[in-house]
Parts: sequence; structure tokens; C-alpha cells
Amino acid sequence: MTSVLITGANRGLGLEFTRQYAADGWRVFAACRDPAGARDLAAVEGDVSAETLDVDDGPQVAALANKLSGQPIDVLINNAGIYGPKDVTRDTVDYDAWGQVFRTNTMSPLAVSAAFAANVAQGGQKKIITLSSIMGSIAENDSSGDFIYRSSKAAVNAVMKSLAGDLKSEGITVAVLHPGWVRTDMGGPDAAIEAPESVTGMRAVIAGLKESDSGRFLNYDGTEIPW
Ligand code: NAP
Repeated sequence: MTSVLITGANRGLGLEFTRQYAADGWRVFAACRDPAGARDLAAVEGDVSAETLDVDDGPQVAALANKLSGQPIDVLINNAGIYGPKDVTRDTVDYDAWGQVFRTNTMSPLAVSAAFAANVAQGGQKKIITLSSIMGSIAENDSSGDFIYRSSKAAVNAVMKSLAGDLKSEGITVAVLHPGWVRTDMGGPDAAIEAPESVTGMRAVIAGLKESDSGRFLNYDGTEIPW
């Protein structure tokens, strides 16, 4: 059975990924910080197991990797992310908060990818996907501010580009995706699209990825985003 491991699966895009893959008959390992409190996740029908995972918690990452040892995972989706402080100017940067955003958005996707790379190598599809953002594109940055979130996503793009090279010999395809501006807690009520549209698009992109696509930065509609 085709399987996917999704981080931050209790709400927003992670929950929608879980719904769609489960509805499609996939086995879903739906990881989140508080499975007991994840009511929307519990309501998803299908082959879904809620797994405890704070992506910033090294021992929890190791414990889940140990629990799933030997379990092939076709697709790993590093979805969990935070925005951090908003409306920050160069004079009001909270450097501790920046560190936390870097931990969650930049460092933890590598930690999780490293922990589950062996599972992905055993899967049929062999894909590691990270939810980045067009806000991480330096080429597309024509505004000011947003130092913290922008830099965390630019950095995870660099990390995943390196990981693509790293895992090439194992036949693992690594890609970063922009989900669009989506109406979730993070995207807010004024965002352009709903989660089902974004995730339907990203799933099609993921399904179409070939080994030669490793290291690419793609929009949810499949178009290339400049670094
Ligand atoms: P969201 O609605 O705010 O949900 C964020 C998810 O990440 C929640 O499940 C949250 O879990 C989880 N999370 C945060 N820190 C975590 C940690 N340390 N360990 C485990 N889970 C953690 O955000 P979203 O809109 O679905 O965003 C999903 C991804 O898409 C993020 O990486 C985001 O940067 C990216 N993205 C979103 C948009 C957009 O417009 N929405 C645009 C570009 C990129 P808790 O419930 O436990 O907090």
C-alpha cells in the first residue's frame, strides 16, 4: 500500500493532505504535536494513524523513526511550519523568536528528513517534499520586511537543494513546494485559495515528480519558482 508521512497533520494544509491521501486509499502516518487533542484529524476516515511528533524535539523524532523502522514510506511531507513575529522592522527584531522560526522551518525539516530517509529509500516512490514559500524566493522579493519568515524559507530551500544532491545516489527525489497563498490559520482569511485547491495541486505536482526533478522549487500549479 502506498504510504505518506505528514508533519503538522492536525490542521491547515497538513490536515488537508491527510484527508486527500486517505480518501485516495493511501496509508497515512499523520504526525502532530498533540494527537489526543487533534479532533479534526481523528475524524478523517481511512487508513490514518496519528503519531506524536514535535519536529523540534530530537528524542521524539528518534522515537517515531524507531517505531516506524522497516516501514517503507513512499512520500515524506515536511509540512509543519510557523510564521513567527509579524510586522517586524529592522529595529524590533526578536532574535530569540527568529531562532525558533529557524529551528522549526529550516533545521527540523532536515532532521526529520534524515531520520526517515531510510524509510523513504524503501518506498516505491522515494520522495521527500518540503513546504517552503514564495516568500523564501530572493528573486521574487520585491518588498521590505518579513526578515524572519523569508530567511527561514530561503534557508530551507538551500538545505533541501543540498539534500537533493545528498540523496541522489539513493534514488530519492527531493523538492520544495509553494502551496499558494492559502486560507489557513497561517494564510489568514484574505488568502487567495482554499486548502483543497492548494493540496489537490501539490498532490498532482508530487505525483508527477521524476528523479530528474530533484532539487526543484515548484508552485502548487507545477510552475517553476526562481530561487
Ligand atoms: P497552519 O495552519 O498555521 O498550520 C501549521 C501546522 O504546523 C500546524 O499543524 C502546527 O501544529 C504545525 N507545527 C508548527 N510547529 C510545529 C512543530 N514544532 N512540530 C510539529 N508541528 C508543528 O499553517 P499552514 O498554512 O497549514 O502551513 C503549512 C506549511 O505551508 C508551512 O510550512 C507554511 O510555512 C507553508 N506555507 C503556507 C502558506 C499559506 O498561505 N497558508 C503559504 C506559503 C507556505 P500545532 O497545531 O501543534 O501548532
